[in-house]
Amino acid sequence: MNTTHEEAKIKSLTRRQFLGRAAGTAAVIAATGFISNAQETQVHVLMELPYASNALEPVITANTISFHYGRHHKAYVDNLNKLIAGTQFAGMSLDKIIIATSGKSENASIFNNAAQVWNHNFYWKSLKPQGGGEPAASLKQKIEKSFGSLDKCKEALSQAATSQFGSGWAWLVSDGDLLKVVKTGNAENPMTGNMKPLLTIDVWEHAYYLDYQNRRADYVRDVIEKLINWEFAASNI
Ligand code: MN
Repeated sequence: MNTTHEEAKIKSLTRRQFLGRAAGTAAVIAATGFISNAQETQVHVLMELPYASNALEPVITANTISFHYGRHHKAYVDNLNKLIAGTQFAGMSLDKIIIATSGKSENASIFNNAAQVWNHNFYWKSLKPQGGGEPAASLKQKIEKSFGSLDKCKEALSQAATSQFGSGWAWLVSDGDLLKVVKTGNAENPMTGNMKPLLTIDVWEHAYYLDYQNRRADYVRDVIEKLINWEFAASNI
């Protein structure tokens, strides 16, 4: 396909138009009456991005967003809705589905799609335009208590993100009184290990390949220095 043309089209959309387009699936589901009772039959919807599709440039381009958010993230939402229809998971929140299906091979597809929806919702909020810099004092103190310094915390995050073999995620989590950095493979989420996610970096190739090709370490460095949303991390403690 002509990605340059697609990119130009997406860049020309206003944020509202872009979000409206992305939310199209949910609107269609609602219009066809699939949601007969929203409280009993929860249909998962693609979240709205908290910024315009080109707001993370040049680190993450609108082209990457168009595929990563518009195709991959959307596909996880669509697949999840198809997989849970008519099952015991149909009325559950995303968190409950993840906990209920974790480690159960017979529910692996539902787990993978539910966790990928959750992880991507969390990833987009873990980033912001003009991010990076220093966290507010209370989070910074917790980081210093757990890692020694903010730089050591960022190094641990970078190390986890670059050393995750294959697809996965690097996380800053809260585990009891301490903060930790962990990495997970594929769709896995630290919440299933009783840790509380504070922020995450997606290291699946689809997160960076259009902008950085094989240079995962450069993507990770730029995300940590320029996009990481410490306010969001602090809000999750
Ligand atoms: Mn992803």
